[in-house]
Order: sequence, then C-alpha cells, then structure tokens
Amino acid sequence: MKDLFIPVAAPVFNGNEKKYVDDCIDSTWVSSAGKYIKQFEDGFADFCHAKHALSCSNGTVALHLALMGLEVGPGDEVIVPTFTYVASANSVMYCGATPVLVDSEPDTWNLDPTKIEEVITTRTKGIMVVHVFGHPVDMDPIMEVARKHGLWVMEDAAEAHGAEYKGQRVGSIGLISTFSFFGNKVITTGEGGMVVTNDDALAARMRQLKGQGMDPQRRYWFPMIGYNYRMTNIEAAIGLAQLENFDWHFAQRRRIAEHYGRRFDKGTGVTIQPEKPWARSSYWMTSVLLDDNFPARDFVIQKMAEAKIETRPFFYPMHVLPMYCEQGKQRSFPVADHISARGMNLPSSGNLTAEEIDYVCDTLIQLGK
Ligand SMILES: *Cc1c(COP(=O)(O)O)cnc(C)c1O
Repeated sequence: MKDLFIPVAAPVFNGNEKKYVDDCIDSTWVSSAGKYIKQFEDGFADFCHAKHALSCSNGTVALHLALMGLEVGPGDEVIVPTFTYVASANSVMYCGATPVLVDSEPDTWNLDPTKIEEVITTRTKGIMVVHVFGHPVDMDPIMEVARKHGLWVMEDAAEAHGAEYKGQRVGSIGLISTFSFFGNKVITTGEGGMVVTNDDALAARMRQLKGQGMDPQRRYWFPMIGYNYRMTNIEAAIGLAQLENFDWHFAQRRRIAEHYGRRFDKGTGVTIQPEKPWARSSYWMTSVLLDDNFPARDFVIQKMAEAKIETRPFFYPMHVLPMYCEQGKQRSFPVADHISARGMNLPSSGNLTAEEIDYVCDTLIQLGK
C-alpha cells in the first residue's frame, strides 16, 4: 500500500465548500453576518424537521447555550451519562449546576433509562441524553420518566447528525438539542455548533444570549449578560455545502461501518456497537469493543499506530475525572467502566477505501490472534 497514514476521521470537501468560501472572501462577508448563516440555519432546521436552528461557535457552547435557554442555574441538577465526551458534563458546570452521572446500557452504550429514577431529587431539572458515537438513545422510556417527574429532555447530538430513532431524526425528540461541526464530525464547519428546538420562546431567548444579550427591538441595549457565541459566515458557508451533500456523508459512514461489520465476525473477538432494530446510527466513528483474546487496549492502539493507522481510545467515563470523581467514589458505573477500558474508535473518514478498511481489519484481527 502506498505511503500510508490512515486518520481516524478526516473531513471530505467534495461539494460547494470552496465556491461558497470564496464568495465570503470576495464579498467581504467573513464575520458573523452574511447570507450563509441564515441559509445554513434554515437548512439545518429543515434537516432536523424542527422549527428553529441557531448556529454557534462550537458544540460545547451549543450545550451551554441550550442549558442557559432552559435557565439551569446554581443548585440545579442535570442527569448526564457518565460515558460521554467531557463537554456534556462541563456545560452543566458552566451554569453552576451539578451533572448527576448515570451508567450506560450494556447493548447501546447509551444512558441507561432504568437507572435514571434512582438519582432524581427535588433539585433535578432535566435529563441530557447523548447519542454516543451516533447511535440514538432509546428515547421512549426516557421521555416517559421525564414526563412522570416533570423534567425536560435535551439531546447532545454532537455525533449523531441524521441518526434516526424509530424513523424520526434525532434532534427533534427532546425539548432542545445540540450538534457539533468539529472537523471530525459527520459534517463539519471547522469549528461550529447548532442548537435546535421547536419552542419559540426558548429560541428567542437563546438568540439573544448568543448575541451579547442585545435587545432585538433596541440596538445596543443590553438588558442581560449575554455572550458572543456566534458562528462566522465562512463557517456557515462550509456547513451549507456539507449539508447539501449530507446524504453522501451519511452513506459513507454507514458503508464503512457495514464493511467493518462484515469482517468482525464472532471468531475475531471484535464487537461493533450494535445497531438496534429501531435505530439508524450515523456511525460517526465505527466503534468496537475488544474481547479477552486481545492484549490491553492501549497496546493495541500503539500497534495500530505503528502500522500507520490512527485509532482512538473510548472516552474515560466522567466519574473517573478529577472534577467528577466524588460521584465515582459514592456509586459504581460498571458498564461504562468496562466499555471505556476495552473500546476503541476505528478510522471512519468518508473517503476511506475498501482496501484501507480491509488493511485496518487485517491489522486489528491479527493482534487478537
Ligand atoms: C464533539 C462533541 C461535543 C463538543 O463539540 P465541540 O464542537 O468540539 O465543542 C459535545 N458532545 C459530544 C458528545 C461530542 O462528541
């Protein structure tokens, strides 16, 4: 194989990205005003079958903006899966509130709906679900618990653009949801994020918050402390071009996961995140657990790197990190501990060739023998 390095997830720009970015430069609309912002927001709202989409600087501030929209503040508790990217939990801390951690289900690796009720208190305001690695959360039981206890549900869909739960796109099931367009996500804007909701009042409040809190009726009048969380027109231009080609990007992620799935049969000791019959995963990155026939996961990652294949270890669960380990001492999270220790993300860039996938599979399977 040629001069090879296989990245874990690199973006592909095979549409109007360059043309639209050139247009931003030529027209001088490079900052956070300009036509691509509205086009991208409107396009993304349609894409999620939702009423409002608000662009912002990245997926982390999208989470913060959503929680501020929901008026989460000091003393409040928000239920968050322990097995997630750190931004999900940190965004709750930004509001002065406490993320209360919950273990994962063994089969989807997502927040376990049966373990929510035991941590609900009078301070609990809502549930943040995360569609981990692009596999949708089993939303029905979670919406049911939320209804029963008067809680809102928000979706961190940073990895799950276009994923479907029982035929409905994620991002429009909870009261509010957030996306990331970081360089390795299903579609990218470089850095960027989006908040999606059907709620008019929430959308208006968040639009004000992300633009320094300026009164929409009265220029340069700031009745609240706001933020500059805006996306640039250049980022939106890239995003619009990526969105136009969304079906291609989504199809590639699924093609890659299916190819890996065919190669990792039972005897290999490699298990792909299973796709439930009610789910259509975005397969942000094909994600696998290694059985006991494999050496330690970090050793496998090192060996793969020596073969010029970039992989990633799964997230450390939140309950082992310094900021959140108090909860780890008080309660146990056996499923997340297991997944986190034995899991890795495999190369999943949209333009990965069949030969490259086979090379990754051959190299990995050999390490388990
Ligand atoms: C990527 C990601 C984020 C944060 O997005 P950024 O754009 O990198 O700030 C949040 N949550 C999850 C689950 C993510 O994967």
